[in-house]
Amino acid sequence: MTFPYPDTATWREIPIFDELTSHDVAAAVAAGAHVIVPFGATEQHAGHLPLGTDTYQSVDIARRAAATLMREGVPLLVGPAVPFGPSAVQSESPIDFPGSVYVSHATLLSLTRDICHELARQGFKVIYLVCGHAESDPVLQIAAKEVSEETDASVLSVQWLIGTQPEYGTVKRAPGSQGHAGEGETARMLASAPHLVRPHKYVSYRPALPADPAAHDKMPYLGGAIGRYKYPPHVFEGFEDGLWGDPEYATAESGEAYYEIIDRWLCDVIRKERALWGAA
Ligand SMILES: [Zn+2]
Repeated sequence: MTFPYPDTATWREIPIFDELTSHDVAAAVAAGAHVIVPFGATEQHAGHLPLGTDTYQSVDIARRAAATLMREGVPLLVGPAVPFGPSAVQSESPIDFPGSVYVSHATLLSLTRDICHELARQGFKVIYLVCGHAESDPVLQIAAKEVSEETDASVLSVQWLIGTQPEYGTVKRAPGSQGHAGEGETARMLASAPHLVRPHKYVSYRPALPADPAAHDKMPYLGGAIGRYKYPPHVFEGFEDGLWGDPEYATAESGEAYYEIIDRWLCDVIRKERALWGAA
C-alpha cells in the first residue's frame, strides 16, 4: 500500500486532510481505509500554550496512529480536524478567558453528525472520533451512536484519556494532579510544536478540591462516576491563568512517552476493530 502515503512515512510526513486531493481520498476508500477524525478546541491554555493546543494534540495522535498502522500495511486516513468544542467545565470555571471560542453542544453534535454522514456517504465503513478536548466526549458518543444507526458506517468515539489508564500516569513527574495546560499537555506540545510553547510563562496552580472525595468522584469523560458541572467560588480561589497543574515538569521526551502510550492503545483499538469487521 503506497497510497495516499507510503508505508515508510514518519508521523510528521502523514498529511492532514486538507493536504490531500479528492483522488487521494477516493484511493483511501478503495483501499478499505478506516478514517480517524481529530476533535480539538479553540480555547485558552494558560499563558504558555496556544489556543489550538487540543487540536494539535488530537491531529498528532491521529497522524501517529496512521504512521504506526501504515508500517503494518493497515490503511488509516486522517480525516478533517474539528477545531471547536463546548466550554470547559472545571478548568476554565469561573473566568471567561480571551481567545476561547466555544460552540454549543447542539452545534458540535450537528457538525459532527454532518461530517460523519459525509464520510459514510463517500464510502468509509469505520469512522473514529478521537477526542482532544475532554468536554466534547459526551457529544461524540451521541453522534457515534446516531450515525451508526442511520448509515452503513460504524462510528466510534475513542477517549484515550480513559483508554490509557493507568499506564498514562507512569510518565508523570509532577507531584500533584495534572489537568488543563499542565504537565501532560505541555509535554505533548513540546513534542508536537515546541516553537509554540512559552516556558517563561510557566506558573503552577491547583484548585482546592475536597481532600476526601466520594468514590469515583471524577467526570465521566475522565473515567469517573459523577458529572458535576459547578463548584463554589472558593474552590477556584486565585485561579487567574486557566491552568491546572505544573507545566515546568514537562519535557519533549515525556511528551513523546505520552504519545507512545496513547498510540499503543489507539492502534490496538483500530487493529481489533479491523479484525472484527474483516478486511474490506
Ligand atoms: Zn487542552
